[in-house]
Amino acid sequence: MNPPDAIIVGGGIQGVSMALTAARRGLHPVLVEKSSLAAGASGNSYGIVHGGLRYLQMLDIPRWRRSRLAQAWFLHEFPAQVRPLRCVMPLYQGRLRSPGLFRLAMAFEQTLAATFDARVPLPPPQLLTAEEVKTEFEVITEGLAGAACWHDAEVTDMPGLLQAMLKRAGLEPPSLYMPFEARELLTQRGEVIGLRIADVNNGDTREIMSRVVINCAGAWAGSWQQAAACPTARSLAFNLLLAGALPGNSALAVSRIPGKGRSYFMRPHPEGIFAGTYYRPAPDATEPAVTAEDIQAFLDELNSALPGMHLRPADVKAVMAGLLPDKDGSGERLSSDDHILTHRPHGFYSIVGGKFTTAPLLSEDAANRIWPHLNRADHMAATLVKHHG
Ligand SMILES: Cc1cc2nc3c(=O)[nH]c(=O)nc-3n(C[C@H](O)[C@H](O)[C@H](O)COP(=O)(O)OP(=O)(O)OC[C@H]3O[C@@H](n4cnc5c(N)ncnc54)[C@H](O)[C@@H]3O)c2cc1C
Repeated sequence: MNPPDAIIVGGGIQGVSMALTAARRGLHPVLVEKSSLAAGASGNSYGIVHGGLRYLQMLDIPRWRRSRLAQAWFLHEFPAQVRPLRCVMPLYQGRLRSPGLFRLAMAFEQTLAATFDARVPLPPPQLLTAEEVKTEFEVITEGLAGAACWHDAEVTDMPGLLQAMLKRAGLEPPSLYMPFEARELLTQRGEVIGLRIADVNNGDTREIMSRVVINCAGAWAGSWQQAAACPTARSLAFNLLLAGALPGNSALAVSRIPGKGRSYFMRPHPEGIFAGTYYRPAPDATEPAVTAEDIQAFLDELNSALPGMHLRPADVKAVMAGLLPDKDGSGERLSSDDHILTHRPHGFYSIVGGKFTTAPLLSEDAANRIWPHLNRADHMAATLVKHHG
């Protein structure tokens, strides 16, 4: 067998996307995962594939475009695992999330969306009146001025999505090393020549030869030898499955101070209510450990946002938690410049800290950097963007 064109470390959304991008460019990657597919943050994500409407409220059109493209791609390519999700966010007079600002974002969205051939068209965003929100949800009514209503996408089967992406990339054993852990880069005269990996079940090590190693190990990206240039601090993020029921089939976005601050989503789940996502710095954590205080802090936020729910720890049926790479241990996210790193030795790259939504786009960007001589055509855009004229 010829040596693979690239060894990808990590079987989360980023590693799997990278494998698919490489395969679509005619390359033969292999993937190394120390546990199982979606074992890290990806498998515990809240699973919203954001279309980027919030970026329009900040007039960040390039970022909107990237999110929208990735969302459209997921919906079109993996309809069995990704479906549209109606979202409702109450708006309050005089607050950041006010009807005026949302109206502006809506107008932008409609103009820009006309440049897309999204194939799975989503209903346009709309404003609901205060009366309409009140009939649907028991939200805080003081100052309520209506609600933003838009469609995002949700991943309904995360391991299934990653399996389907790997299948599309043609990756199966012997090109899939699982459970194997990346241990050490093999180098020669400043160039990568391969990777030493260890079988997690029996500790046996082996070497895979390749001139390219791409580190997509998420919060652990800086933990293994020679990946020290990656961030090593972490944040903890978790969702709760709560007893109870929500009406309808929509996600409700709420915040502790109505119309202001971090938003939490609540949506119906076959076994109750799925609430997410609570974040806190966890600089030295090696595993996503959620404490009773963490859970209480999240419930306090939700109870402030939706006082009628009276949520208690006894209502918690399950906790889904993951670790995310963090800029410096303060809970601050990595900036877009930190996502794709080119290291020494030559041939070693990391892709860290992107959102679930943008993993396929980061993979395209990384592929353009790693293999500049190959077809640079943006495959995602080519399949989805309308060509005028
Ligand atoms: C609770 C929560 C909710 C979230 N909600 C959303 C959301 O709604 N929308 C959104 O866009 N994003 C969301 N995110 C963020 C998103 O899930 C992550 O940004 C994304 O999944 C990160 O993917 P990744 O592949 O980089 O990392 P991970 O999914 O963590 O994958 C890294 C993989 O590398 C493996 N690995 C680590 N070290 C090694 C090694 N040495 N050798 C081999 N394998 C190794 C791990 O086992 C793991 O499987 C959420 C995250 C969390 C935790």
